[in-house]
Amino acid sequence: MQCEKLFYNDSFATTFTAEVVDCFENKDHFAIVLDKTLFYPEGGGQPCDHGVIRFGGNTAEIFDVREKNGVICHYSRTPIEIGTVIDGEIDFERRFDLMQQHTGEHIVSGIVHSLFGYDNVGFHLSEKDMSLDFSGPLTKEDIDRVVDMANDIIIKNQPVTADYPDISKLEYRSKKALEGPVRIVTAGEADVCACCGTHLATTGQVQMVAVKDSMNYKGGTRIFLGCGKRVYADYYAKTAQCLDISHALSAKTDEISSKVNDKIAECESLKAALAAAKDELFSFWVKDVPAGDVGFMAKDGLSSVEIQRLCSKINEKCTTACVVAKQTDGTSKICLFSSVCDTNKVGRAICTALGGKGGGKPGIFQGTFTADGDVETLLKGALND
Ligand SMILES: [Zn+2]
Repeated sequence: MQCEKLFYNDSFATTFTAEVVDCFENKDHFAIVLDKTLFYPEGGGQPCDHGVIRFGGNTAEIFDVREKNGVICHYSRTPIEIGTVIDGEIDFERRFDLMQQHTGEHIVSGIVHSLFGYDNVGFHLSEKDMSLDFSGPLTKEDIDRVVDMANDIIIKNQPVTADYPDISKLEYRSKKALEGPVRIVTAGEADVCACCGTHLATTGQVQMVAVKDSMNYKGGTRIFLGCGKRVYADYYAKTAQCLDISHALSAKTDEISSKVNDKIAECESLKAALAAAKDELFSFWVKDVPAGDVGFMAKDGLSSVEIQRLCSKINEKCTTACVVAKQTDGTSKICLFSSVCDTNKVGRAICTALGGKGGGKPGIFQGTFTADGDVETLLKGALND
């Protein structure tokens, strides 16, 4: 028996009564089949409904709904006896959010198609995100124009309808050639498209569309779209971030971008000045190292780049140079430069003795270790092996 798809009669209905016609185990849960349902199964890029089924004082949570070979399965951890009459209720907050995104997607895709002739070749919609892939390039100005037009269609509050017209002479968007009765969704003057999803009743219910981001994708454009309440949530989250940054920089919110760029440039210049100052300091330290076969130095807190730089300076006076730097997390970094020994063998011997590891290319070894120990003695021992 075919399950009656009540969600197509009224996409705003939230409760229904039905009879269980089948219930079987499926992995670690149960699949419940009803004679009719308001639960939309995942399909056409739209995620499924969630909700509950109540029966005889019990409640079964429905966490997934799938249609397989024409059978709609409601997945739950609770089994229900065949023949039971149930009361179903969908999570309408979730459904409404998904309908806002889906209907907004129609409006935007229809406008892109009519303005640029591009097809929507990829659609992803989840509880958090939505992305649309179009078959051609869109500039930022193109996207702004599409968003403005979409929001105008929303303000016009035009009807969104779904029916089965004669498609022989109808122009509509579709991912593939279709035959037989085709469900055609019309989203105001923006879109005519073959679609099996659930939609809002008017374009005004979408409230608003906004593009969060866009990128070039496979020769076309991927846009990250938000509609309705998701736009407000995004606005509040981004405003909070803007205000935090604005207060931290003592700058007006419309100036934070240029202020951040100024700070980045300032930071780069300070880094360069610090590196030059450290270089002078390293030269000062190295003055005290006697020229010879082995030069060793232990200096806490130096970074990997700094110990390399210091080691290279020592190596200018000594054929083998080694620097060890203890880090704030208790581990130590080691660097070894040599033109006469096998740095990999010597470096590994030291690191292995102190619970660490490392590697490098001929002449240069870098490693880390965790235990405390007399590295200078270990170095001399390893060089004599
Ligand atoms: Zn649709």
